[in-house]
Amino acid sequence: MMSMADERRDPARGRSSRDARARSSSSERTCVGCGKRAAREDLVRLVLSPREGAAATVVVDAKDGAFGRGAHVHPSPRCVAQCERGLARNFKQAVEVDAIDLGRSIASAFSRRLEGLLSGGMRAGHVAVGGDSVEESLREGRAKLVLLAADAVDAKKRAPSDALVWGDKLRLARALGRKPGDEGAGVGVCSITNVALATAVRRAWLCAAGLANTSGHADDAARVRSRRAESAGGNE
Ligand SMILES: [Zn+2]
Repeated sequence: MMSMADERRDPARGRSSRDARARSSSSERTCVGCGKRAAREDLVRLVLSPREGAAATVVVDAKDGAFGRGAHVHPSPRCVAQCERGLARNFKQAVEVDAIDLGRSIASAFSRRLEGLLSGGMRAGHVAVGGDSVEESLREGRAKLVLLAADAVDAKKRAPSDALVWGDKLRLARALGRKPGDEGAGVGVCSITNVALATAVRRAWLCAAGLANTSGHADDAARVRSRRAESAGGNE
């Protein structure tokens, strides 16, 4: 007969209680910038990176799984610009923040995250690449999200209006694992055919795009985002 102690030691049980903890913590967090509560997935997680003999600095936890106490901030220049006091309160120590650097760090961390998601999705067969494949995936209802390179002029005409603009054709190709020199190395458009992957890609895109044009001014994230969508997408 299995005793309670055995049950506690069961690794599977340990895993399930961790899962339960993850579920219960996936609700809401407070933004250290504006102080408002928001769904955890709408916020960027920051963790502390202690430096010897200097004020601690923060690093971006784009995968949302780094160890240590985390703080959360909206991916908007406004909230990042005013997060220093909230961070100090959250971490209970002085934290040095350069809002422009932090904004850039968030944008580049989530751009890298997006690239990682695309290459993983490509290997797993969850990405349709190129105009014809994307149109087929849309027709068949498999496309959960369409990603468009900013310089894909032809693909833009045929893409759905809610397509997300990201990077340029070469960058999209690289993220999808095409080597330079491959035939048709540039990729103008791709679609994600897996719901979970599409959700993760959309979130990474929002976090990257919200701070892509970080200038230190209190820009409205939505405005930055739409400006970015109209213009050169992946420029950093
Ligand atoms: Zn905020």
